Amino acid sequence: AQGDAEQALVLEGEVLSRGRGLEVGTEQRALHEPTLTLPGPAEVRRYPRPVTPPRVRFAPSPTGYLHVGSVRTALYNWLFARHEGGTLLLRIEDTDEARNREEWVEGICSSLRWVGLDWDEGPFRQSERRHLYAKAAEDLEAAGRAYWCDCTREAIDARAKERGGPPGYDGFCRDRGLGRGEGRALRFRVPDEGTTVVPDLIRGEPSFPNAAIEDFVLVRTNGTPVFLLANAVDDVDMGITHVIRGEDLLPSTPK
Ligand code: GLU
Repeated sequence: AQGDAEQALVLEGEVLSRGRGLEVGTEQRALHEPTLTLPGPAEVRRYPRPVTPPRVRFAPSPTGYLHVGSVRTALYNWLFARHEGGTLLLRIEDTDEARNREEWVEGICSSLRWVGLDWDEGPFRQSERRHLYAKAAEDLEAAGRAYWCDCTREAIDARAKERGGPPGYDGFCRDRGLGRGEGRALRFRVPDEGTTVVPDLIRGEPSFPNAAIEDFVLVRTNGTPVFLLANAVDDVDMGITHVIRGEDLLPSTPK
């Protein structure tokens, strides 16, 4: 058993140490199968090999020590990027001023280095990219996809209680034509009909009825963008090809 363990460690060491320097030239690529086999049910165990080198990101929020589950996410991103000759970005999602602390940013970087994971671009900070989220919010509003709302949490809860339905926002301000102003949040106008499908290489095609998604906030009353907006804007702007993240984020992915 001891021997096995040692061998496993050596193997792991090889894989890890090969990481960065691994050359994925055309010759080597030609030897690869066109698809990779992953463990799991037959119908989901293959993913098409990327045609161009993938760009992936690890995007933690600096609100505490780096969680071991986040390290796992970082590892999968790193393995995929290194295996496919792609690029791994580190993006610090620090839009929630109340919860972020600078020392956690350093903590994330040093913890990643400590476990032996490196990255190719970044760390980028969302707090330095606010103009992009402001522009996206403006564009959504101009296109009629978002609207300003001055409902307080108390008012939203009171109305939900009165109607006896599920809790959450009821679209009260949808057609009030409010402009930007003190105490107002920008909400996304979720289509009433239809379904949002998330193409997921592991889960298949999870689908979410739009009617079950409330008109969620994009920009808080204090003017800061919520994670959902900044995260999506950055994934597009940074040319991310594959989002590899914890399953806890699947329910919010349609948003
Ligand atoms: N910053 C978010 C988190 O840490 C999102 C991560 C992601 O999109 O992968 O939960």
